[in-house]
Amino acid sequence: MMSLVTVGSVAFDAIETPFGKTDRIIGGAGTYIAFSSSYFMKNQNIVSVVGEDFPQEMLDKLSTKGVNLEGLQIIEGEKSFFWSGKYHNDMNSRDTLVTELNVLEHFDPIIPASYQGCEYLMLGNLSPEVQLKVINRMEKRPKLVAMDTMNFWMDIAMEDLVKAIKEIDMLIINDEEARQLSGEYSLVKAAKKIREMGPKFLVIKKGEHGALLFHETKVFFAPALPLEDVFDPTGAGDTFAGGFMGYLASTDDISFENMKRGIIAGSAMASFCVEKFGTERLENLSKSEIEDRIQEFVQLTNFDMVQAV
Ligand code: AMP
Repeated sequence: MMSLVTVGSVAFDAIETPFGKTDRIIGGAGTYIAFSSSYFMKNQNIVSVVGEDFPQEMLDKLSTKGVNLEGLQIIEGEKSFFWSGKYHNDMNSRDTLVTELNVLEHFDPIIPASYQGCEYLMLGNLSPEVQLKVINRMEKRPKLVAMDTMNFWMDIAMEDLVKAIKEIDMLIINDEEARQLSGEYSLVKAAKKIREMGPKFLVIKKGEHGALLFHETKVFFAPALPLEDVFDPTGAGDTFAGGFMGYLASTDDISFENMKRGIIAGSAMASFCVEKFGTERLENLSKSEIEDRIQEFVQLTNFDMVQAV
């Protein structure tokens, strides 16, 4: 059975959207990725760190989903990472209000022996220095190394970020981040520049406008599902990445054709994520809900063209 190792923050978030506001709830890129990929495969492992303030109940929920927490460090006397953000009215853009690194500041990732030999590695949003350490601490190069990042790291750790990007197979970022990273406004030009930095594959997420997959001269586009209500887009990107990697690992096929299916699987998972605040919607999905949602995506883009001219 293929295995997936996920590195990413496990954290507290406070979120404000035009629909409401939350106190500290559970968030973190690693949390979203793990929940999402858990629906596709069981053999998955997380590398992260929390403080002693993190609720055991949430860790138990992840374990119940089959997520191996051996690589999750709990640091006594310290606080978990905390992030707070506020969405604009369009829900596509947001401002970060607070980033308290806490345990992430001196995080030294440990890769347990049982994680070694994994075929799929998802480097969720974390400091690029940590992402690089994880790549270097893998005794065997995984079949596919994918990575996410954000403007925060571009602003304070661009040098390390460029080093990390050189080492990966696939970068998964949003349109704003692609523009900042490449200095190009056109996403096609941005994609070209970013792929010249290292990754053979690039996914650019465009929020409610779907996602693009670039590889060599090929491009694939998947829409996002038009939803009546989007409550909270937090974690949608990570949930997308989790569904995508979970699907790829479970099918163990990294061809461009299969990646297209992975993009749809990821998009379907992200469409659930935004329906409720935080991870709530992702915690108890059924297989048939996911299958139905994937079919909605198939229907959304499927059409028969007759001769037009
Ligand atoms: P997304 O909405 O997919 O960009 O991811 C949001 C999640 O990323 C939140 O749950 C945050 O806890 C987490 N996050 C925000 N900023 C950072 C950061 N600088 N490093 C690691 N995780 C972060």
